[in-house]
Amino acid sequence: MNASLTPGQTKVDSVKLLIDGQWVESKTTEWRDVVNPATQQVLARVPFATAEEVDAAIAAGQRAFKTWRDTPIGARMRIMLKLQALIREHSKRIAVTLSAEQGKTIADAEGDIFRGLEVVEHACSIGTLQMGEFAENVAGGVDTYTLRQPIGVCAGITPFNFPAMIPLWMFPMAIVCGNTFVLKPSEQDPLSTMMLVELALEAGVPAGVLNVVHGGKQVVDALCTHTDIKAISFVGSTEVGTHVYNLAGQHGKRVQSMMGAKNHAVVLPDANRTQTLNALVGAGFGAAGQRCMATSVAVLVGKAREWLPELKALAAKLKVNAGSEPGTDVGPLISKRAKERVLGLIESGIKEGATLELDGRDVQVPGYEQGNFVGPTLFSGVTTDMQIYTQEIFGPVLVVLEVDTLDEAIALVNRNPFGNGTGLFTQSGAAARKFQSEIDVGQVGINIPIPVPVPFFSFTGSRGSKLGDLGPYGKQVVQFYTQTKTVTARWFDDDSVNDGVNTTISLR
Ligand code: NAD
Repeated sequence: MNASLTPGQTKVDSVKLLIDGQWVESKTTEWRDVVNPATQQVLARVPFATAEEVDAAIAAGQRAFKTWRDTPIGARMRIMLKLQALIREHSKRIAVTLSAEQGKTIADAEGDIFRGLEVVEHACSIGTLQMGEFAENVAGGVDTYTLRQPIGVCAGITPFNFPAMIPLWMFPMAIVCGNTFVLKPSEQDPLSTMMLVELALEAGVPAGVLNVVHGGKQVVDALCTHTDIKAISFVGSTEVGTHVYNLAGQHGKRVQSMMGAKNHAVVLPDANRTQTLNALVGAGFGAAGQRCMATSVAVLVGKAREWLPELKALAAKLKVNAGSEPGTDVGPLISKRAKERVLGLIESGIKEGATLELDGRDVQVPGYEQGNFVGPTLFSGVTTDMQIYTQEIFGPVLVVLEVDTLDEAIALVNRNPFGNGTGLFTQSGAAARKFQSEIDVGQVGINIPIPVPVPFFSFTGSRGSKLGDLGPYGKQVVQFYTQTKTVTARWFDDDSVNDGVNTTISLR
């Protein structure tokens, strides 16, 4: 099976579609290589599925929904229990493939899988998560209660940067609620996602309940416009996410779009200096800056300006190498195209007058000369009109701005169009409380650089980083993947009851 490819394997297999429980070789003529970004080795080729194949996957989901929706909650839950055990068992093996196709370090790949595994663990408590409400005697002998019912075939479209975590944000919660699912993984690194899908089948997910199609815009648009798809969960760039939100919304679907970011870390001079600098460097350059929650802007407040040389010295120590090599801090970017884009933005920063404190453009990685590497890059003297500030760079580039007060820092963060994550570094409880109250960003860290919530909460981006009311995973996603039905009921145990005709709206 293609999904168990490992780096070093010479035969290039095709990635399969999963339709109605069958691994299907696509009949498409359009294929794309899955490439190791450190070596350019072709690991596999991925099909861009045909319209008929997308229709077949949705039809399989529609058929399976008829029985899956009525499968007892305990049976669904036990599949998730099995799935979490299987993911735990195979985590190290999947991490090797994930690192090979995505570029991140093995430890970070294991983290990617673990953060998804936590969602599967949460799915195991669906028995209480999907409970409705009950009010007795809302009128004489009348009770009202709610049912949380699955909605049908749902679809998920995922980005390249978390090929384990983000698919696991989606399909486990969707199917454990009684829905069926069509997953469209990133075409850039679908192999580790497919390993997780294999485990889902092994755990007992029945045929048609989970289907997978591969491709790009055409496949995504087909999912967004198909009558039988009821909900779309999208994670990716703001440009594509806005398109998906609008298109699927126009076709009457529930949509949640989790999108791009520009995450500010605000540093007050009273912060724990060592911990803060460690956090800025880790969150700024880890995963080569390819995290939606990466710290991409450091806002040094007042005397914290003086920390810039230390920040630079710490960033310069990071080791750039292939993710598979021990001791690597910063791996390659996902593609040559991504590298060109990042280099172009660094050029723009220089041209627009920012000071290039640390230049990662010419980094050499012996043994991996073809890799898409960019080393840690640090700019100071950045202003809010520069492209390196206005655009999501999605590379190992940290830009530093300076302000005099916390109020100015809050205003700066709130003026940025994105609202995914932010952090405040301080020892002052009062400053932290003010920040969390006034900042208009979905996820706030207090002395925590990457505040991705654990799955009993939900991921909560705002403004330009998110469209749709409900977030992925947590309690919110149970609402997203279910329809609430309200039942108002009265029972008679005496045939002689006769209230007479009531022409008013009130219950008695
Ligand atoms: P992307 O938007 O390029 O791709 C995401 C998905 O959309 C992929 O499956 C891709 O095949 C598909 N797609 C690409 N172009 C399309 C088009 N024109 N029409 C329809 N579908 C299309 O994103 P990416 O580069 O894979 O991922 C990086 C982006 O994702 C960054 O912007 C990052 O901030 C964001 N992201 C956000 C979150 C979050 O939770 N907010 C999490 C992870 C990543």
